[in-house]
Amino acid sequence: MATSIAPSLAFALLFAAASVVTRLSAGTSPVGLVHPAAGVAAVWFVVQGLRPRPTRVVVLDHALLVGIATTVGLLDGVPTVTAVGLALAGVVRVHVFVRLLRRWAPDLTGPDGGWELHRPGQIVPVLAAAVVASLAGSTVSWPAVALGPGAPWPDTVLLLVTRSAAGIVVVSLVALRVPQMARDWRARALERRAPGRAPGRAPGRAPGRAPGRAPGRVPAARRWAAAELALALVVSAALCTVAFGLLRLPLAFTVLAVTAWVAVRFRTSVAVLHDAAVGAVVLVATVRGAGTFSLVTNHVEQALVAQLFVVLLHVLGLALATGRDERTALADRLRGAVAEAERTTDRVRDLAAAVAAVTQAADPRAEVCAAACRLTGADSAFLVEPDGSGDLVSTGESGWDVPIRLSMTDESLSLRVYLSGEGAFAPDVTRHPRVAPVMSEALGPASALWEPVQARAGVTVAVLVVIWRTPRAELPPEDVATLRALGAGASHAVERADLLAQLEVAAERDVLTGLANRRRWDHLAATEVARAHRAGTPLSFALVDLDHFKAFNDTRGHLAGDALLVDFGRLLGRCLRETDVVARWGGEEFALALPGCTATDAAQLARRVQAVVPQGQTCTIGIAEWRPGLSVADALARADEALYRGKKGGRDLIAVHGRALPGVIPSPPPGRGA
Ligand code: GH3
Ligand code: MG
Ligand code: MG
Repeated sequence: MATSIAPSLAFALLFAAASVVTRLSAGTSPVGLVHPAAGVAAVWFVVQGLRPRPTRVVVLDHALLVGIATTVGLLDGVPTVTAVGLALAGVVRVHVFVRLLRRWAPDLTGPDGGWELHRPGQIVPVLAAAVVASLAGSTVSWPAVALGPGAPWPDTVLLLVTRSAAGIVVVSLVALRVPQMARDWRARALERRAPGRAPGRAPGRAPGRAPGRAPGRVPAARRWAAAELALALVVSAALCTVAFGLLRLPLAFTVLAVTAWVAVRFRTSVAVLHDAAVGAVVLVATVRGAGTFSLVTNHVEQALVAQLFVVLLHVLGLALATGRDERTALADRLRGAVAEAERTTDRVRDLAAAVAAVTQAADPRAEVCAAACRLTGADSAFLVEPDGSGDLVSTGESGWDVPIRLSMTDESLSLRVYLSGEGAFAPDVTRHPRVAPVMSEALGPASALWEPVQARAGVTVAVLVVIWRTPRAELPPEDVATLRALGAGASHAVERADLLAQLEVAAERDVLTGLANRRRWDHLAATEVARAHRAGTPLSFALVDLDHFKAFNDTRGHLAGDALLVDFGRLLGRCLRETDVVARWGGEEFALALPGCTATDAAQLARRVQAVVPQGQTCTIGIAEWRPGLSVADALARADEALYRGKKGGRDLIAVHGRALPGVIPSPPPGRGA
């Protein structure tokens, strides 16, 4: 209750004080020269109407307005009917003003409380509304005045209209700058307390102020500005003295020049205060019969000239000052927009470079994580993807060395983002209930973003997790947009890298058995020969050929033959060491390269191989030990020759080139056969 009527009481006090000024400005004439009370009442009802208020407050405001106006009239000796009539005229004036201002200047009277003058264009509706409202008020006030004693009515009514219009214009214009003035003063007080930390540059700030100066040192430009202001005020005071003081010289127009000077060169608040002070001097001088305007002998003309002068003074000052403010604000916005455009350009350039780097990288997963850190200032990042067995696992990282494996059946933020395709941000991972413990325990308080990496058709293929060790309340939208674009580029690069890897595997594997094909064999066997040559270690080659495989196919069918080849390939691999090389040489033949094995070692292995041939089948194996100077083809030709002898010798045999070993068919003595 107390708070809701406090503004009403404050306005009522102001209105009462302004009414006294109105009365004092009358001197001996029946109508006052100025009517600030009309202005205070207008501002009162506009400002109160900016926000919804209870009916009792509206009623109270009206009661106070009518009550005070009537009381002042009665105290002044005006007949009751005239006092009440003038008070009601005030109510009409106020309502017309409020309605017109709402219609003509919605930016000043909007529900957001835009009661603030920023542009010269906003002055026009205030002027127009003040004039129309004063004319409307006069339709009620002239009968009231006519009923009382006093001057002949046309002059009185004319003055009643002009003094109200002037009062509303001047008080409204000053009041429209009060919010900005209050902000300016707060900013200055803050700057005095903590130099360089005041909020951003306010429009209309005096030129030459450098934020962030060292405490105790006043910049030269600021000292000059202060000196210029002092000079302007001295000149203004001197001209006021000349025109409105004792000298009475008709030099009132020179005061307008100083008004323009102050408006253009100094803060708008300073200009408003200067104009208000000069206006007060002009009015007081005129009321007291001093100053230039007292040279006008007709009372009505004198009042009109003085009122017009004061209104002109305020309109000129505010139009120039707010025009300058508007230009400054536009220039600031333009500078801001240019800076923003430059930042955006840099960001797009960085993003394009990052996407290009990801596309060309041998390991696009690690590169996308590194790029995410680079572009957003993050400390680490990793990528999680399904591993094909029901888990989400980390497949690429930057600045992160904790392996991640999350079950698809357990609840986690990574899984949620993977399944929903919608990103998530945790300002503090330790406080988020869905962050996997492995992550929050490794990190402690930190912020993290989960961004889905989506392939064509919006299918999520991975989740990019980006981490900032210093927690942040929220993520700038441009960082989110950057990571989204990076994720989209990454999905293509990762897909491409995976396809390439699959292609590489396919190009070097036998389709049926999955063993190395001839192409890969050529490469691996040549590598083993080079290694053996360099290290001087033994190396043996073997060719394994299934016996009577054609017959097996003929009797059991080709598919059964395929199955036998697959089984044998797998079992053959189990007989070998990590370093041994096995390939499908062609048809039902397999080639082995056995580094570190002599022919004797190879023959032992061959026996193990013979033992694993499935389905009761047999194989014949030809072995040749590599000798320095032999190529892979030479060594294989020797193994093939031994194999041929094994076949010829009855099959299910092991034959070694040039050697006679127990259990194997020796080479024929030189000169006897192949
Ligand atoms: P040998 O004991 O003299 O080696 O007799 P073989 O029948 O095993 O040899 P041959 O060279 O006469 O026949 C090889 C057979 O292997 C012929 C072919 O049908 C069969 N073969 C080759 N590649 C495949 C394959 O991929 N799948 C199946 N099922 N059979 C194959
Ligand atoms: Mg064969
Ligand atoms: Mg065969």
